[in-house]
Parts: sequence; C-alpha cells; structure tokens
Amino acid sequence: MQLCLFDIDGTLTATSDIDTACFVQALKDVFGLQEVNTDWSIYPDVTDSAVTTRLVEMQRGQAPTESEMRQIREHFYALLQTAFEHSPEQCLPIAGGPRFLNSLARDPQIAIAFATGGWEQTARLKLELSGYDHGHYPLASANDAFTRTAICSLAVERAQQQYAVTDFETIIAFGDGIWDARAAVELGYRFVGIAQGEKTNLLQTAGAELILPNYEALTPAQLRERFGL
Ligand SMILES: [Mg+2]
Repeated sequence: MQLCLFDIDGTLTATSDIDTACFVQALKDVFGLQEVNTDWSIYPDVTDSAVTTRLVEMQRGQAPTESEMRQIREHFYALLQTAFEHSPEQCLPIAGGPRFLNSLARDPQIAIAFATGGWEQTARLKLELSGYDHGHYPLASANDAFTRTAICSLAVERAQQQYAVTDFETIIAFGDGIWDARAAVELGYRFVGIAQGEKTNLLQTAGAELILPNYEALTPAQLRERFGL
C-alpha cells in the first residue's frame, strides 16, 4: 500500500495569507508581541507551536505556559473563523484538490493522511470550509509535536494503524513549503511540490520530483505512472 501525506495550508487550501494574518494577530493579542517576522523559512521549525514558543522565548526569555498555548490556539481559531465568516473566499481549496483526494480515496492501494504544522482545530476548520471530505483520515498537527519531521512521522504511524499495515511501500508527501520538502527528504519520503512561479525552483532544488500549480490535471493513474508505483 502507498501513502499520500498532505500538508494543508498552501497545499490543499489556499489559506496561507489569511492564516499568517490571524496567527500574527493572535500572537500580538495573547502575548503582546510587537514584531513578528513572517518569513517562516528563517525559523528552525515551521510549526505553529514551535514558532510561538520561539518568539515568546526570544521576547520575554521564558517559554509560554500550557495555559497560554491553549489561549493562543483558541484565540487564533476564533480570529480565523470570523475572517472566514466575513469573507468565505479566503478559504478556498487549491484547484482540483477535493476531487483529487476523493479519487485517491477510491483507490484501494492508496492511503491518505494529513500532516500539518498548524494546530488541529484550525486545520480541520480550513479543510471543512474549503470542501474537503476529511473527517475520517488520520491527521497529526502542531498539537502533537514541535517539528515537522515529528509531525510527519506521527501521521504515518496513525495511518499505519488506521489502514492496518505495518509499513507503506512508498510515502509521497505533498507540500508547498521548502520546509515540507526538507522534511520529506530527511524522512526518505518522495515529494510533490504544489507551487507556481519562483517557488518551483526552490522546491525542485530541495528535492521535489514533481511540481504542480494545483491538482486540476492530476489523476491517481498519472501519479502512479510518474512515481513508478
Ligand atoms: Mg503549507
């Protein structure tokens, strides 16, 4: 059996900009942070939990408490929910994504899982509002771990349990960030980049075997052929 492991923001949902805006607002509201560098590629671990911890530690010399982490998760969720209520066009799927996921799900040799550097509640909200059938697939998130590699490994573990397999023959990770490509290479996964323009070169250099702007022209059969599955 093969596993397709999906990042969410920018990979399945076109939500990266609104996500950044609400995340920064939540950091300012909960921790009073003044300056937040939103070039995520400079952070050693690009997950909501790791970025929050690092920024708070840098600015006040002390990590956030468990209760503060819960507070920012809840506030961030509320900000995103309000933003999506006011402008539903801020939560759209990457073109062709829901259809592609549904077609993968009909293939008995392909398992599906989600590995997001975001928190679970906000990740599920984005999947739900952008039209993905997501509830029954395994997911690992920034609630579970700090690093992307740990989150990916946990998502794979959960998928193994859910699909009752001891190992997947091939794991294909789908992502839009340079950090997604790096984690995939580190973990020995194959990698599909979702990107356009300048970002395609970055992802290619980082190890992407296939780069697509969206899922409109992709079928499971083409994926099998491309990866020799
Ligand atoms: Mg992403």
